Amino acid sequence: MENNFIISAVMTIFSKDRVLFDYQSILIYGKDLTDVLPPPHALCVVFPQDKNELVSLVHFANEHRLSLVPSGGRTGYSGGAVAKQNDIIVSFEKMNHIVDFNAADKTLHCEAGVTLKAIQDYAKQLDLFYPVDFASAAECQIGGNIATNAGGLHVIRYGSTRQWVMGLTVITGRGDILGCNKGLVKNATGYDFRHLFIGSEGTLGFITHAILKLTALPKKTKVILFSVSNNQAITILLSVLQQAVSLIAFEFFCHTAMQCVMQAEQIAFPFQKNTDFYGLFEYESDDTVDLIIEKILQDQLNKNNISEILMSHHEKEANHLWRYRKGISRSLKKYFPYKFDLAVLPSTIFSFMRAAADLLRNKYAALETVWFGHVGDGNLHVNVLKPETVSEKDFAVRCAEISETIYAVIQHFNGSICAEHGVGLLKKPYLHYSKSDSEIQYMRGIKNIFDPNHVMNPGKLI
Ligand SMILES: Cc1cc2nc3c(=O)[nH]c(=O)nc-3n(C[C@H](O)[C@H](O)[C@H](O)COP(=O)(O)OP(=O)(O)OC[C@H]3O[C@@H](n4cnc5c(N)ncnc54)[C@H](O)[C@@H]3O)c2cc1C
Repeated sequence: MENNFIISAVMTIFSKDRVLFDYQSILIYGKDLTDVLPPPHALCVVFPQDKNELVSLVHFANEHRLSLVPSGGRTGYSGGAVAKQNDIIVSFEKMNHIVDFNAADKTLHCEAGVTLKAIQDYAKQLDLFYPVDFASAAECQIGGNIATNAGGLHVIRYGSTRQWVMGLTVITGRGDILGCNKGLVKNATGYDFRHLFIGSEGTLGFITHAILKLTALPKKTKVILFSVSNNQAITILLSVLQQAVSLIAFEFFCHTAMQCVMQAEQIAFPFQKNTDFYGLFEYESDDTVDLIIEKILQDQLNKNNISEILMSHHEKEANHLWRYRKGISRSLKKYFPYKFDLAVLPSTIFSFMRAAADLLRNKYAALETVWFGHVGDGNLHVNVLKPETVSEKDFAVRCAEISETIYAVIQHFNGSICAEHGVGLLKKPYLHYSKSDSEIQYMRGIKNIFDPNHVMNPGKLI
């Protein structure tokens, strides 16, 4: 079919100024932050303003067998929002309104294109809290968060995005509008489609609206940045803390990550001496809890499990300490990293780390790796950096080989090849390391029900 015909038809659904087809726009809206994938290809980018326009677009796509790629904040790391053929990119940038707040139920109703930061800020001015948080909050959208079941820094206490979604409005790949769960706390009417769309990566349909639960703001929090000489010490501290207090975050990172973030953020080394690993935790503070924490830290210092400690005394200091952790991901960008986003049971994370580190050291000693992650959730980000002398193409081939090796270890640990970034294009060839053949067949069956002509984000996830 003629591309011109398609673009003219699309312009009858959206006003002319909401259809872009220049290559620069396709480069911007048809690509996420996954560096190792080829540049995007698409027919055009459209900017819907309401769900009726999307219904018309889905019907048109079904009629002419076109493919539609939902594009949120494009901060993903798995190529889920990458346009790869004659796709129509659907940006949610203009569906960025908060619809209303239900004060009695403490729920927020918003469009899918609202950024995570806007939701956090809206909650805060109501003296409430939307607890999902991570370093791309200002750019990523709630639709993208829901489509990937985003996790982040507070999962240890508050869970992932799934825990906060009370309702969704979606448009299926058939063009039907479904109102899923509508904000209800209790609803035992069978299959809950809301949970199918959470983590579906745009393969079942568009998420147009969400109803999110808000909660009480933590009263006062403190952040502790600490250094340790071995990762075993981190496990010990985590376990002691978890027995005594309710943590809001517990993160770890290696010395290379520390060096990269210091350079990128132009911040000084915070400790007296280098160690192999660093950690950060946050907790809700009061006099009693502070005393417990103080005792635990003193004990761990005495046992030489912890080398040094820095504690925040007010919000500005807390934000500064968080920079050492939140800045890591972006600081690696210039090294063209290949990102592994792995999950195992929190109790087995350090056994897994040992196995994976031994393997990388033995088989790929020449490659530099950077380790960090949400260790309290069993979620590890291993970033393999591209050596300057290796071409991008050869690096991608090498990383595919490493993936098979690492994912075999993940399979052995009954873990997940994608903890929170989603499968997208990048991890799709490895899905069988985490899901059985039967599970993948059921997933395909579900896809066929919601999107029989495969117009929705084809080639991603399954
Ligand atoms: C510095 C940095 C730190 C990060 N830290 C974390 C972290 O700690 N935890 C974490 O989970 N992630 C993290 N990420 C990854 C990323 O920000 C998240 O995956 C985020 O949820 C993606 O949202 P997005 O709007 O950018 O989605 P996109 O990248 O635009 O899209 C992601 C997927 O969702 C689909 N999609 C988008 N909008 C819709 C919609 N309305 N309807 C249906 N499908 C849709 C897309 O097609 C794609 O498959 C980080 C990224 C960066 C850059």
